[in-house]
Amino acid sequence: MDLASPVIVATYAEIALKGKNRAMFLRRLLNNVRKALAGLPVREVRHVESRVVVELEDAAGADQAAARLRRVFGLVWVSPAVAVPRGEVDPELAQDVAQGVAPRLSRVCAVARALAARDRGAALNFKVETRRSDRDFPLTSLQISAEVGRAVHVDTGLPGRMQQPDFVVNVLVLKEHVLVFTRKELAYGGLPAGSSGRVMVLLSGGIDSPVAAWLMMRRGVRPEFIHFYAGRTPAEADTGKIEDLVRLLARFSPVPLALWLVPVVPYELRAIGTVPDNYDMVLFRRFMVRTADRLAGRSSCRALVTGDSLGQVASQTLENLGAIAPDVQMPVLRPLVGMDKTEITAWSKEIGAFATSIRPYRDCCSIRSPRPVLHARAEDLLRHAAAMDLEDAVTEALAAATKVVIGA
Ligand code: ATP
Ligand code: MG
Repeated sequence: MDLASPVIVATYAEIALKGKNRAMFLRRLLNNVRKALAGLPVREVRHVESRVVVELEDAAGADQAAARLRRVFGLVWVSPAVAVPRGEVDPELAQDVAQGVAPRLSRVCAVARALAARDRGAALNFKVETRRSDRDFPLTSLQISAEVGRAVHVDTGLPGRMQQPDFVVNVLVLKEHVLVFTRKELAYGGLPAGSSGRVMVLLSGGIDSPVAAWLMMRRGVRPEFIHFYAGRTPAEADTGKIEDLVRLLARFSPVPLALWLVPVVPYELRAIGTVPDNYDMVLFRRFMVRTADRLAGRSSCRALVTGDSLGQVASQTLENLGAIAPDVQMPVLRPLVGMDKTEITAWSKEIGAFATSIRPYRDCCSIRSPRPVLHARAEDLLRHAAAMDLEDAVTEALAAATKVVIGA
């Protein structure tokens, strides 16, 4: 097969394309695509007729490039394709049209046949789907599909099937190229990284908060992470698992991501003997949220993100979610609040976090008293917080925070 012009063509989400943001959205998207492909044999990344087209030096890197593009937020479909220059299509076509004979499209058909031979697998039928971005092309989409379909049928013997075909050959007519492709991989859509500002994610070692972070990243935010560890040092707490979680989230980010490791000892020291058992869990949450809030302010973050899901554990009642930090000005985003564990787990597996999330880890929440108050009242909570000097604990914890930069 002549794969002289291997490309990857990707479509992007329409959502942010309205109005003045369009140019900014596209610039970011293209930059993020370039960064995602760094180190691979890429000739050029261009925006072509409402699509992102990546020209590759050779077809060998196509699979790896496609896999990386699937992790670029904003892209919807990613297809490794072969580009046939219009210069190799149009003269032949003009000749056929002038002579009134059936249009040959021989270069396009040759590529379609080669791709069908490579990718048809066990398909029992197929379909050709054609799109014309260049409306001036002398053949209609149907005519192109018929012509290419005939060629693939002659080669493979497979019958065409319009409804739910086993296998699809796609033809896309652009102004300068005709693209042919058989694979279409679904990416995650969303908004390009960096288009929505920064957030501070409270990251535990569990299943939920990495998914919460990922869902917000998909909306274009750049996350920083804060993790509270039990023990005297990160090494003693063995925070490698947390760093691994950030590392895999960083695969979806064009820039390295910061992780703040914060000790919980300053809280423990003040809470022991002062805090009623049933308030320990919600006070500890307040300690986390207050600390995250202060750190977020310093790091120009505009919101906090947690993996809370309503009612999943006793501390996540509506009352408790509301009572923990009535005085935190920054919005607290809880992207999982309406999801159930099955959905969250499915996402965790989809983004490749699950295996890491279930690794054993001594989370500082697991050492809290098991019977938290179900309906904490803000004034009681604040009274207990004052009695134990919770704000001093926050200051001390922040002073002992360490920063790790991970990824990219
Ligand atoms: P996760 O799977 O994210 O641990 P969870 O269902 O276990 O969530 P909790 O442990 O009650 O729920 O925690 C709720 C949220 O509080 C977490 O999603 C996370 O945002 C935050 N959180 C909990 N523990 C920590 C921690 N040690 N460091 C930072 N944030 C934490
Ligand atoms: Mg947890």
